[in-house]
Amino acid sequence: MKRSKQIIVVCHCLLNANAKIHPLANYAGIKEEVILPYLKQGAGIVQLPCPETSYLGMNRWGMTVEQYDNPGYVNHCRRILEPSLAEIQAFHSAGYEILCVIGVDGSPSCGVNQTCTGFSGGEISSMETLAPQIEALKLVNGQGVFIREFKALLDQRNISLTFIGVDEEAI
Ligand code: SF4
Repeated sequence: MKRSKQIIVVCHCLLNANAKIHPLANYAGIKEEVILPYLKQGAGIVQLPCPETSYLGMNRWGMTVEQYDNPGYVNHCRRILEPSLAEIQAFHSAGYEILCVIGVDGSPSCGVNQTCTGFSGGEISSMETLAPQIEALKLVNGQGVFIREFKALLDQRNISLTFIGVDEEAI
């Protein structure tokens, strides 16, 4: 039996940068610096779905955590997490080692340590309203909506995992 019985759980775009909003991707497809060490030690991967792509598609704007923190998006996150949770629960119950969950710091959805805040409201069709909005944007300590809901659903199943946030700008 060659399987390692080790698994990492990875936010979608770390294995598929194409899911990111334009022009944020700073790698072509897979964030190798983050993923390769785990592959070399023999870990398998559970790839989480990208909640923003399935919610707003590829023409979405960059948004803040306040904008995504609404009942419709929260329900969407919870719904699309169910298949992944079923997989994780199966591996967990069978005694497989889930090494970590790797999220994307700064994301309003997948941030683990940091998320993006500063929605100032209104239209962005004029510099009068756009400039204050740009000025208000900032990174703050906190979780994205998708990660927060994922943790809550894991808690309900009594599954405790280690969460790691990747700061893509620092790698
Ligand atoms: S929502 Fe998450 S998985 Fe999708 S692009 Fe943003 S950080 Fe990546």
